[in-house]
Amino acid sequence: MKQAESTPTLFDRLRIVLVETSRPGNIGSVARAMKTMGFSELVLVNPRFDGALMHEESVAFASGAVDILERTRVVGSMEEALDGIHFAAAVSARLREFSPPVMAPRELAQQLAAGEARAALIFGNERFGLPNEIVERCNVLVNIPANPEYSSLNLAQAAQVLVYECRMAALDGQRAASDVGFQGDAASVAQIDGMYAHLEEALVQLGFLDANNPRKLMPRLKRMFSRAALETEEVNILRGIARQIIVKCGRKE
Ligand code: SAH
Repeated sequence: MKQAESTPTLFDRLRIVLVETSRPGNIGSVARAMKTMGFSELVLVNPRFDGALMHEESVAFASGAVDILERTRVVGSMEEALDGIHFAAAVSARLREFSPPVMAPRELAQQLAAGEARAALIFGNERFGLPNEIVERCNVLVNIPANPEYSSLNLAQAAQVLVYECRMAALDGQRAASDVGFQGDAASVAQIDGMYAHLEEALVQLGFLDANNPRKLMPRLKRMFSRAALETEEVNILRGIARQIIVKCGRKE
């Protein structure tokens, strides 16, 4: 699994960009949201007040995440903010007439975790959101599908939703990669088919499945087993159970 280890995970290649933020508290809260979810790269584009990172309110709201603030870069343009980024997502409360494809946070997070690109999530100002010029330059527009009657979240809460989804998707990806090392052999389709036939025979012998009126029992069992990602050894156990049922039922007759 050397290859999986050498590919940077989403935790190492996701940047959060805040554009023209007005409230120092929101910057601190975003830093906290990021750290709780395991992300650390924050960039501010033209914050609307001086000393953004040292501001008393930023520091207070960051709480245990002041280390994120200490490492935050403050830049004067989007070009600088997106330096080295391959995939940019505009996070916006508003859908627009001209915009890149719209995605929900979960879908975006899964796409980012599955890929290898260095990605940026770009958040707008508390009152004005993101300008069209920025949105139009992004690869996607990410919208949190909120209450249509009132869909504008607080900036840091919107960031929390996004980084939470990114964390879930990144952990799923890691689990999938590490599972390969820990799991037994995945059962083949042919092995699983053989197990189904064996199980069906046993259930008929047991009198649980009526061969003349099978209803949906086998399709339901197959659906259940299909969710289990069966391994060869597990298929063998199930076949052993079926075999034993057949032996026992046979003996009674
Ligand atoms: N009044 C602004 C909303 C600003 S809220 C507007 O209409 O655009 C500040 C930032 O939080 C937004 O720029 C966006 O990045 C994020 N945000 C708030 N609600 C959101 C939602 N429902 N979906 C996606 N992002 C949202």
